[in-house]
Amino acid sequence: MDQKQSCLFCKIINKEVPAKIVYEDERALAFHDINPQAPLHILVIPKAHYSALHDVPADKYAVITDLFNAVNNVVRENKCVENSYRLVVNSGPAAGQAVYHIHVHILSGRALKWPPG
Ligand code: AMP
Ligand code: ZN
Repeated sequence: MDQKQSCLFCKIINKEVPAKIVYEDERALAFHDINPQAPLHILVIPKAHYSALHDVPADKYAVITDLFNAVNNVVRENKCVENSYRLVVNSGPAAGQAVYHIHVHILSGRALKWPPG
């Protein structure tokens, strides 16, 4: 089984695993995090499978612009601009990455401390 076939977030994209989807376009998907760390905690993922941002080759950077277009749409649609928000991309085990399919966390709805833990 290759990485993509066993990937949880690819299964959510393919609707093989249920998720509370809040946004979908041709190239990205957003859904509520199953273990929310803030009153609003949404994950935004590209439909293309890459393990991390640094794995996206230069000729595929459209994946990143399409992803951040989706992030912006979700942010605008969920009052994040009014309420303040934080984007997080955990990369690698020491940073807490658990799912190796690029995802941007959108956290909003409470005061967020800095530096993060
Ligand atoms: P990270 O630790 O940055 O890799 O983030 C992975 C995130 O995916 C965590 O915040 C998890 O709570 C979340 N997560 C894991 N499984 C699911 C799922 N089935 N549906 C929604 N979110 C999930
Ligand atoms: Zn995947």
